[in-house]
Amino acid sequence: MADSKLKVAILVISDTASRHPSTDKAANALAETFAADGGDRWNDPTSVIVPDNVLEIQRQILSWTDTEDYFNLVITTGGTGFAVKDNTPEAVSPLIHRHAPGLVHGMLAASLAVTPFAMMSRPVAGTRGRSLIITLPGSPKGAKENLQAVIKLLPHACIQAAGADSRAIHAGGVQKLEKEADISHSPGATAEDKPLQHDHHHHHHHHDHGYGHVVPKPHTSPSDRPQSNDPNAGPTRRYRESPYPMLSVEDALKVIAEQTPDPIIIEAPVDISLVGSVIAEDVYAAEAVPAYRASIVDGYAVIASLPTADKPGSTKGKFPVASVSHAQAMSMPPPLKPGEIARITTGAPLPENANAVVMVEDTVLISTTPDGSEEAVVEILTGAIKPGENVREAGSDVSLGSKILQKGDLVTAVGGEIGLLASTGTRTVKVFKKPHIGVLSTGDELVKHDDPSPLHGGQIRDSNRPSLLSCLTAWGFPAVDLGIAKDTPAGHLEQSLRDALRGTPSTPGVDIIITTGGVSMGELDLLKPTIERQLGGTIHFGRVSMKPGKPTTFATVPFKPAVSSTDPTAQPERETRLIFSLPGNPASALVTLNLFVLPSLNKATGLGVSSGTQQGSVHQPRLGLPLVTATLTQAIPLDPKRTEYHRAIVMASKDGVLLASSTGLGGPGAGAGQRSSRVGSLAGANALLVLEPGKGVVEKGTRVQALLMGTVVPE
Ligand code: AMP
Ligand code: MG
Repeated sequence: MADSKLKVAILVISDTASRHPSTDKAANALAETFAADGGDRWNDPTSVIVPDNVLEIQRQILSWTDTEDYFNLVITTGGTGFAVKDNTPEAVSPLIHRHAPGLVHGMLAASLAVTPFAMMSRPVAGTRGRSLIITLPGSPKGAKENLQAVIKLLPHACIQAAGADSRAIHAGGVQKLEKEADISHSPGATAEDKPLQHDHHHHHHHHDHGYGHVVPKPHTSPSDRPQSNDPNAGPTRRYRESPYPMLSVEDALKVIAEQTPDPIIIEAPVDISLVGSVIAEDVYAAEAVPAYRASIVDGYAVIASLPTADKPGSTKGKFPVASVSHAQAMSMPPPLKPGEIARITTGAPLPENANAVVMVEDTVLISTTPDGSEEAVVEILTGAIKPGENVREAGSDVSLGSKILQKGDLVTAVGGEIGLLASTGTRTVKVFKKPHIGVLSTGDELVKHDDPSPLHGGQIRDSNRPSLLSCLTAWGFPAVDLGIAKDTPAGHLEQSLRDALRGTPSTPGVDIIITTGGVSMGELDLLKPTIERQLGGTIHFGRVSMKPGKPTTFATVPFKPAVSSTDPTAQPERETRLIFSLPGNPASALVTLNLFVLPSLNKATGLGVSSGTQQGSVHQPRLGLPLVTATLTQAIPLDPKRTEYHRAIVMASKDGVLLASSTGLGGPGAGAGQRSSRVGSLAGANALLVLEPGKGVVEKGTRVQALLMGTVVPE
């Protein structure tokens, strides 16, 4: 019965065989072993050859294990020795969810009976999802001997690994296979077999032999690839300690900076939407400002010459008023003839030949036109007007072709940059595209903050979404509200994340997702597994040595935009999207938003591109919060291990000294203090004091570093 058979795949790992497949003998030797000793339980093996390359090994194995159509058994051969290029165990270990040291032990024991060189083999074995993975040595003989040592057990192990969802194996076949897999007569197999079937008989005296026991423990060491909990495995199998390495804040910021993609350049119209954008290409003035010689005052345009010893200056005297030049003039006034003057208003163009303007205050009216409506003759009372006086030369504010803004300049809301662009007739500029950001809350307990019904049970109001959205908007990054993702049913979180990345016909997908909640150690903490397992993302860190904010998680996910409807032949580029999964506790969420998300947003917007290397400090003042030094007004206890980001108010004293006070200290009778969940400790706080770990307290009067989130207030 073909479909009652188990599926096996063989991965030959060898540089040589990958170049010359005909040199491979191991795949055949193993296929023969399955046929001869496999008790007719195995399909014909599928086999593939890859070089000794960790990524290629992992990619191939994952294509067999992480799919609906998974293989029950994946056997590798080769790369388990001590040679430099042998890295099969290094490739396979991180993929394993549950290690099976019993199988390793069995294989080694069998080979040791043949040769002491078995000690030079570094096999690993274990399950990933519903598949069993076993690494065998590369020599056909060794591989065969190892396989023979365990082959009787393998159907049983594979069926157990396939678990409740073993429908892939034909129902009738399962029983048959289980019966046939009863290998209790097979030498050496008894010890392993029993606990596999009778876990509960073993409770009191196990010493973590790792046989069939399901001891929930992290199977990865920090150097391994991080691997999230498998949510399907249930609470009994989740890790009891986070398998993610703990990064310092400094290292976490470095990773974020490395992973934040360089911004792309777009052409944008010069209007209010430009505020907050960073200029991507130097901008040169296409027009001079002013475009013509203009008067600075209301008065009379004159032809002036410098006074000399014998002449008092050409402007003193009575002059006919030849023309009028208004600032709103549509055309230039006629040229001025020697001996004439022209009335002129502030900002109006000077007539040709005129070279100075006399203020109206320095003149008197002598006569009018016969109808009295216009000035005929005006007397200028001073001869001291110099050429150029009260005139803005063409281009004197901005000369034609001069650089008005440069790459890296921020277009501020103050208006100066937009004014400059507008005055020179610049209609579009190259800027860095601002990232699209989305904010998502996670958790079954959450209720919309403005839901009118009273809370019941374990419900809490979703305070993180409105608080993060307002903080982002204040930074100039208006974000999309992605709502609340439920922990159950499974898949809701994944769907929310996918929808956000993809966008809708009317809103573009987001480049950066900020989530809160779901990153602690509970079985409903689904962010990490969903990112790794469902979205194929990479978790760059899952813990940071800080308080609050320890579970802060940062990941990238690959995203392939849909093929454009206007140009179906264009292959969209694979993009990298960022996910910041911040802790659910409201104070932790806001602190980590300030500390980790802001620098990434600033980098993604193009801030700091022209400044070359980042300025020295860890906190990269240009990209993160500004760092100042302030004097403590009270003693604050230190955390022995983690750097604390202590919520505080920084005030300027009358004599200009910055003072810092805590917005809440814990301790008996002092209320909840700085506890992560206490969002009150952030109300009013304008700074985070950076308190390095230590014993005891940091004394009143000590100068400490403070990251400013808001403006300094008077004492
Ligand atoms: P979690 O990481 O999901 O276990 O959340 C940690 C804590 O933060 C729990 O007490 C949650 O109820 C709380 N929390 C999670 N999300 C939010 C939110 N959006 N607003 C307020 N509190 C939250
Ligand atoms: Mg939660």
